[in-house]
Amino acid sequence: MFFYRKKECTHSKVSPDKDACYCPDCGKYIENKWYLTRCSCCNVKRKTIIKFDNIVPETKYCPNCGAVQYHVEEVKSINFIDINFAVHVKQVNEERSMNRTQTWLERDNSEPVKLLGLNLNFGQ
Ligand SMILES: [Zn+2]
Ligand SMILES: [Zn+2]
Repeated sequence: MFFYRKKECTHSKVSPDKDACYCPDCGKYIENKWYLTRCSCCNVKRKTIIKFDNIVPETKYCPNCGAVQYHVEEVKSINFIDINFAVHVKQVNEERSMNRTQTWLERDNSEPVKLLGLNLNFGQ
């Protein structure tokens, strides 16, 4: 069986022509980022896709040298050449989001840990 996790906002109203803006649907601060993969062997740009939430080259092997290794590079300013290789990612900036998910835990010091069973063998 395969279960879908909770429906997540796809931030579809955030257009990729801005660097960043708040998503009108969920209030998160969304940054438009572009990534491309490069061959680690010959450094050629690889056509890049997103597969299972990972940024990966479209093909397994480099068409230029046949190597399988690659690395992911962030494209700071997208141009018309790189756009053919790069993949667009809407990245949530939790720091700047108004309704950010709290990642810290409340420290509970109301009750000290009880040493249960301490006197278990007492008097035997
Ligand atoms: Zn959203
Ligand atoms: Zn290569």
